[in-house]
Amino acid sequence: MPPNLPPFEEAGPGKRPSLDFYRLRWYISGPRTGINVLASPTDSISSQSPYQSAPDCFHPVSESPVSYPAVSSIKVTVGPLEDWTDDWDDEHNGCHDDFKELVTLADGTEQVVGCCGEARPGPGPSLTVTASSRPFVTIYDYVTYKSSLSDFEGSRTDRYENEGKSTYLFNNNKG
Ligand SMILES: [Zn+2]
Repeated sequence: MPPNLPPFEEAGPGKRPSLDFYRLRWYISGPRTGINVLASPTDSISSQSPYQSAPDCFHPVSESPVSYPAVSSIKVTVGPLEDWTDDWDDEHNGCHDDFKELVTLADGTEQVVGCCGEARPGPGPSLTVTASSRPFVTIYDYVTYKSSLSDFEGSRTDRYENEGKSTYLFNNNKG
């Protein structure tokens, strides 16, 4: 497998999901069998067909690169979960010190670990998806791993859905 493709995080400016990736329609916690594929990436009301029609039968887009340019790996995160810690900090920033739970770190600084009876949320879950059958990460690779990310922390994905965010998920790397 040629090692010359970069990971998504180093793919440079202009990187984005591939056109075939834009054709996927799926819910974060839904089964892989619930994913549909639009006939046209630029027509959201074009006809849809199942991504997976039998146990080993996947739509041809499963073989397409997940991104443009094609990459050797991609780190998958869930944006709202990544932001959760910062949101929580903002929410409890003005609380009286009596409500805060602190621990002293090895370097002597104090870290807030809870407030108002709530634990401070940690960083969101992430997974690095690497190319398996092709030199690049395919939509199949991505969907398969992404499904395990949503299994991975059900309670956190609940939060995601409760906020009514769209089901669109991709690398959250802002660089
Ligand atoms: Zn508080």
